[in-house]
Amino acid sequence: MLIHEQLGIYKVELPLLHRVKHVNCYAVKGKNGWWLIDAGLSREATYKGWLQFFEERSIKGSDIKGIYLTHYHSDHYGCSGWLQEYSGAPVYIGSIDAKRINYYWKKGDYLLEAIGVLYRSNGMPEEAIRRVIEAEAEIIPLTLPHAELTTLEDGQTVNLGDNAYQVILTPGHSDGHICFYNKEYSLLFSGDHLLPDTSSIIGVSAQPGTLSDPLADFLSSLNSIHSLNCTLVLPAHGRSFANIEKRIKRLGSYHRRHLELTKNSIGSSATAYEVCSQIYSPDISGNELRFVMAEIKAHLVYLVYQGELEAVLEDGIYWYRWRKDRS
Ligand SMILES: [Zn+2]
Repeated sequence: MLIHEQLGIYKVELPLLHRVKHVNCYAVKGKNGWWLIDAGLSREATYKGWLQFFEERSIKGSDIKGIYLTHYHSDHYGCSGWLQEYSGAPVYIGSIDAKRINYYWKKGDYLLEAIGVLYRSNGMPEEAIRRVIEAEAEIIPLTLPHAELTTLEDGQTVNLGDNAYQVILTPGHSDGHICFYNKEYSLLFSGDHLLPDTSSIIGVSAQPGTLSDPLADFLSSLNSIHSLNCTLVLPAHGRSFANIEKRIKRLGSYHRRHLELTKNSIGSSATAYEVCSQIYSPDISGNELRFVMAEIKAHLVYLVYQGELEAVLEDGIYWYRWRKDRS
């Protein structure tokens, strides 16, 4: 579907497997070829979707000049290796997320082990850890074959179609998430940083050396996007939208509400899993449990950095409790 005539932007909606039903990838037409933004999961239904789009517009593999990814998550990175094999085009991603791919998707067993370590130390029972690991293990093959990556840095200019876009680093949903911004039309490819109807998960990662306070980073990257005065946002899930101001306010209030819910669940002390069990139903799927736990942990960590809570490690498990000296 043509989304923006002057910039030659088409939306290519591809199916996903879980609660979020689709990922919006975009294809940008220029005088000398096509540029793609985000790839979808590597699976038959995605290949079919791309091939149908290419066929409808008589796009040959060699017409594709570059594949740009907003972040490393499977629904964005997954099919980029297949697209690279199909087209021979370079695959670009922010330099921080390029490192995450090496760890996450290329060392699957290590990732599953790290998830177990993180969730066990946050009070999750073994049965729930098993469900989370099973769900994650199903995702890893949806990132094959791997793409050879070229990295992008914050502030760099890239050409998509016949127009220039600025790379904007927006950490939070992933450490190295990037958006692409066209100044002339005030248009932003927002990836999962800004979505129209939901807040993307802002979670603590199982990978060592990742963002220590992802919610604080997310909130400050919302501010940096706010100042751009975008008139059109093209997100990776859901409809495109114009009112960025309203959306940013809502995201701020979503996190404030969830911080309150988290605080109300602490009692005298609690693990992240205990907070999670109070806020969410016990029958959520392994896939969702993984994300909500990561987000609750991010909210708890944020409250620690804000000086409201402290984390105490006892027998390998983190307990969160009110700081006695808090103001
Ligand atoms: Zn996504």
